[in-house]
Amino acid sequence: MEIPEDCLQCGVCCFAKSGTYVRVSEADWRRLGDDADRVARHVGGQAYMRMTDGHCGALHITTTRGAPPVFFCELYTRRPQVCRNLARGSQACQTELRCKAARVAEEYGR
Ligand code: SF4
Ligand code: SF4
Repeated sequence: MEIPEDCLQCGVCCFAKSGTYVRVSEADWRRLGDDADRVARHVGGQAYMRMTDGHCGALHITTTRGAPPVFFCELYTRRPQVCRNLARGSQACQTELRCKAARVAEEYGR
């Protein structure tokens, strides 16, 4: 599968149906600062990013008629470590694209 040139054109790895998809460590929580309670929550003894409409709540999707959608992480510089570890073009990225790109494409026409 073709790797997008820019994650802003893709956003696929930020999508999941599970509410415990993006793990937030204690260090991540501290880095999120005042936004932590708003964007993350605890389930049992572990924190995770809150999910909205099948994707991480920090992912903002802008759709403009006649232009491709833009997938923007509002917390990019403070995103959790699991997000930092998932590099564009890596095996993990390619697995995400294989598993979910069709669903995102169907919904957002990317
Ligand atoms: S890391 Fe890969 S799957 Fe995630 S947004 Fe970037 S190109 Fe898409
Ligand atoms: S924090 Fe940002 S990079 Fe990580 S899943 Fe959420 S929107 Fe994607």
